[in-house]
Amino acid sequence: MRTLAGVDLAALAQREGTPLYVYSTPAILARARALQSALAGLDAGICYAVKANGNRALLALLAGEGIGADIVSGGELRRALAAGIPADRIVFSGVGKSAGEIDAALQAGIARFNLESRPELDLLQARARALGVCAHASVRINPDVDARTHAKISTGRAENKFGVSIAEAHAWFDAGATWPDVHLDGLHMHIGSQLLDLAPVREALARMAGAWRDLAAAGHRLSCIDVGGGLGVRYREGEHAPAAVDYVAAIREALAGFDGRLLVEPGRWLVAEAGVLLSRVLLVKEGASRRFLVLDAAMNDLLRPSLYDAWHDIVPLVDSGRERLAYDVVGPVCETGDTFAIDRSLPRCEAGDLVAILGAGAYGASMASNYNSRPLPAEVMVDGGRYALVRRRQDFDAMIAGECFATDWTTA
Ligand SMILES: *Cc1c(COP(=O)(O)O)cnc(C)c1O
Repeated sequence: MRTLAGVDLAALAQREGTPLYVYSTPAILARARALQSALAGLDAGICYAVKANGNRALLALLAGEGIGADIVSGGELRRALAAGIPADRIVFSGVGKSAGEIDAALQAGIARFNLESRPELDLLQARARALGVCAHASVRINPDVDARTHAKISTGRAENKFGVSIAEAHAWFDAGATWPDVHLDGLHMHIGSQLLDLAPVREALARMAGAWRDLAAAGHRLSCIDVGGGLGVRYREGEHAPAAVDYVAAIREALAGFDGRLLVEPGRWLVAEAGVLLSRVLLVKEGASRRFLVLDAAMNDLLRPSLYDAWHDIVPLVDSGRERLAYDVVGPVCETGDTFAIDRSLPRCEAGDLVAILGAGAYGASMASNYNSRPLPAEVMVDGGRYALVRRRQDFDAMIAGECFATDWTTA
């Protein structure tokens, strides 16, 4: 790998410095369009999960394709609106929405709330009443299926904190009059992330369809079914992101006959493979028993390997004919967990060489932190041989901007 969307990565690193996130516009558009065309003929919309990568340039790109947003906070609401995503294409998920966040979303006029508990439904009713508006809402059901993915990104088992049982959802619909200012007319689910196998998706869809039919039989008409996100991507050889057509075929089959609106909420699948994290080798350390490749990127820039033991392919931008050696690829942060790869076979690397960490477009920059007082990395988009900076590298003043010395003491 030397270029991405026609842009020379070494020259880019030279100009913008490292660590640097690079997102391929054509790669994102290809996924977005593949999903749109798979959904053709259905009354369906895509609500991109902003938490995967909330950069406003990227959101604006998706907005231009008619894609909406699945948000999980007031901050994401503001990002989505600022990027030009119309409020009526925004849905609000998450197990703990504050009254302030609910108010902001109601005032913006978002399409619907995905509700995860009875207290949250009560709160939405109270806020909608106070503001004199009607809220549209779906119940997030927990279909209790094993998504067969990493435990930390599995969300659809009964023991997870997400959603309510189908029985409880049914009871909410039966008691609809209890919430006069909430129009409860949808079902939602999201069973987990990085799903490479569609079998658990089919299983969950079947339970969703069962819930919809039971509700219909009880006289409750649904106007929206939101099947969530979770489609996986290729992080390493042998993995294959499910094709949009296969995924949508599963939806078409399970929900055949449903005459309301369908929503899908992919995050990772749309953007992960479109991004790389460029990093420079600081040094090679020959340890007592292992050889360490110390990069200038660290867990604060890309947390997934530390948090989920996630695999990312790492491609040194060097002559691939070099002899191969085994490296532990690490960052400079003072944590043993600051490790991108263990015992990875790579062409021999030297200080100053560049490496591209692949599959970094989702849950990369959006999970970055200032740990070890490291500034947030810069981000660029590339397209047709040109690039645009979409987030400048944080400088020291910006990093400490909110802090102050304890000079103003007062009582609470
Ligand atoms: C995180 C999340 C998504 C997106 O998940 P991906 O695995 O990135 O597709 C969709 N819906 C909800 C409710 C989420 O929490």
